[in-house]
Amino acid sequence: MNLDKFNKPQKEAVKLLEGPLLILAGAGSGKTSTMTGRIAYMIEQGISRYNILAVTFTNKAAGEMRERVEALVGSCDGMWILTFHAMCLRMLKMDANLIGYGKNFVIYDTTDQKTLIKNILKDFNINDKEFGIPYLLSIISNCKEQGQSPELYRKNNEENFRTKTIYNVYKEYTSRLKKNNAMDFDDLLLNTLILLRENPELLDKYRRRFQYIMVDEYQDTNHIQYMLIKLLADEHHNLCVVGDDDQCIYEWRGADIRNILDFEKDFPEAKVIKLEQNYRSYGNILAGAHSVIENNRGRKNKKLWTDKEDGHKIRYYRADTEKDEARYIVSEIGFMKTGPENYLWSDFAILYRTNAQSRVFEQAFAERGIPYRILSGLRYYDRKEIKDLMAYMRLVANPKDDLALSRIINEPKRGMGAKSMEKISSFATMYGESLLETLSRPEIIAGLSGKSGSSVKALIDCLNLCSSEADNLRVSDIYDELLVKTGYIKALEDAGTVEAEGRIENLMEFKSVIADYEKEAENPTLAEFMEKITLMAEVDNHDENTNAVVLMTMHSSKGLEFPVVFLPGLEDGLFPGHRALENEDSMEEERRLCYVGMTRAKERLILTSASMRTIYGRSDYTRESTFLRELNPKLMEGDGVFRKKKKDDMDVYTGGRDGYSNPNPIKPFDVSKYSSACKTGAFDLVKNAKMATRANVSSEGAVDIKEGDRVSHSKFGEGLVIETDERTLTVMFDSVGRKKLAKGIAHIKKL
Ligand code: ATP
Ligand code: MG
Repeated sequence: MNLDKFNKPQKEAVKLLEGPLLILAGAGSGKTSTMTGRIAYMIEQGISRYNILAVTFTNKAAGEMRERVEALVGSCDGMWILTFHAMCLRMLKMDANLIGYGKNFVIYDTTDQKTLIKNILKDFNINDKEFGIPYLLSIISNCKEQGQSPELYRKNNEENFRTKTIYNVYKEYTSRLKKNNAMDFDDLLLNTLILLRENPELLDKYRRRFQYIMVDEYQDTNHIQYMLIKLLADEHHNLCVVGDDDQCIYEWRGADIRNILDFEKDFPEAKVIKLEQNYRSYGNILAGAHSVIENNRGRKNKKLWTDKEDGHKIRYYRADTEKDEARYIVSEIGFMKTGPENYLWSDFAILYRTNAQSRVFEQAFAERGIPYRILSGLRYYDRKEIKDLMAYMRLVANPKDDLALSRIINEPKRGMGAKSMEKISSFATMYGESLLETLSRPEIIAGLSGKSGSSVKALIDCLNLCSSEADNLRVSDIYDELLVKTGYIKALEDAGTVEAEGRIENLMEFKSVIADYEKEAENPTLAEFMEKITLMAEVDNHDENTNAVVLMTMHSSKGLEFPVVFLPGLEDGLFPGHRALENEDSMEEERRLCYVGMTRAKERLILTSASMRTIYGRSDYTRESTFLRELNPKLMEGDGVFRKKKKDDMDVYTGGRDGYSNPNPIKPFDVSKYSSACKTGAFDLVKNAKMATRANVSSEGAVDIKEGDRVSHSKFGEGLVIETDERTLTVMFDSVGRKKLAKGIAHIKKL
């Protein structure tokens, strides 16, 4: 391995494999690169891949790290390079039974959590005005991050009406999760800690396995994550953590900046390596970022230098409104795209403080026909139809998931109102069963009114069949089956509205997500797919190969870099937010976020604000951001902060007339342009689904199949039918051997 590409301190860090090591350095100084180099060096030194554990914060960062390591050493097989949550999930999937969960547990996301709390408040007659759902969830999350059980919470807090209510809700929340065999995101971490603590043999196994542990972005670890790492590394102390106290941006989520500042205390023999050269940004950008972060008091004093040229000054534009701001940014991108640098669309990033800012940009890009991608969890997976289908799939994977069942029992309408569900629910409690189990009882179905009864029966049959046949079906088959047999797609078709059409399109797009997964996974299963989707964090659909302008929150941009970065919305109240203006700690956190945003830029950094902004339906005059005022004015060009803008100063792009025109305008969400799945025919789904609703395509052909027939199955390939009865087919497949399949659902064709 050629170590020449590393500078002296980087090289030292790469080669120091034994004992605790802290790499503390500013943005763009090569921390992540050094960590990757270190892994490669380990392999070269003959350390087994199996002994390496590297943890990062986003799936994107983990993926990137795997790619880089693969490029250096060929394969990552055996290593664990993943996020904290993925690590915990993997450990729990193997041994969750040791702490009283089924191994097929599901993960509840924020929406599920809210629904659960809402139900509890209703059942307990608690006023949600008095105890807001987000408030309760944040307390519960805090407790879990501190490792506080409901009982501990009660013990640690003086008893009054408020704490008693919170205790009751927290306790019920915990028990309902468990009853549904579900965990929330905090549970993944907490339960893993409990699992390891309570099972010394298991802990010992992991300790022996992971001889070399590394954590990137260590400044953002919370207490539980810290405890986990400490537990795993406690014997050998071969722990390398990498971070930057100036980039801690998750304090509100429990990240504890002390974890990095106290590393030397926790491991007195720790070696500390500082990296001081920045390789990412031009001089002015780096100096600008420093002039802002310097205003934070609680930080280790470190300054980066670069041998790069100063580059352009940091540009600032004070727009009239948020629309003007978007127009300006989009036209600047248009200008630069035709400039001598030969920028690609994907070289531009717009990093904003809140997701709500993205809409105006979307509009502006759509009008110009400039391709763009929004990287945000909200955009896609939070759509109603996607969540519905995911609930269906969750039920197939885990029939105990009552929350999922409540979500879809009346989606589409099956005449199961709140009253009927209450009844079913009380039966389920009485029998000690899940809702699905109770609904599967013939006497219960018989008790439902005619129309309702038959559609619920169709639903239950479909779910149970998919469940029992899950191993024999491809994930995409299960998906089709659910779309069609539950009547979901038909209901949308019948609605015939524009909105319904849109939903159908989104469901097609989802099919391409499944197709991509099936192509990549070694052994694709529904359960694994559901895990992947649930873990998919904001940044995940960021694919450098797609040539489109990138839009995301500053939080999600951690660790990434782009040639040109725009930071819009630099206004007091937005960035820094209102809360920060009143509280010094929050202010420092926002300032660190500003530092993260600015240091993503390699060549150009452009800041903007709007004098009047309409956001969340309210219009207000704004004041330029504190951060703008802190920025060294010598490094800036464009509008002066506080100086009234002269309109004619600005050279604003107004359309195609300057020779810039987009030869291939791509409409937003024209998924067929982006998705590889469309090429594989996944987009025939709606067509198929339409046919299927009529002709029942999936089981087509299975009806008249006899013993001795040669058949072809969507998952198992070709085979010979050796036995049939009314409901099943037994097939000897050429590649996988004997399988028994249910006739009604087998994706099978007679040859
Ligand atoms: P952040 O704090 O934003 O996560 P980082 O410290 O992890 O940044 P990297 O992403 O590893 O920094 O590196 C920043 C850039 O500098 C990358 O483009 C990387 O390729 C480059 N780089 C790192 N070290 C060197 C080096 N010794 N010589 C040349 N380029 C380098
Ligand atoms: Mg990094």
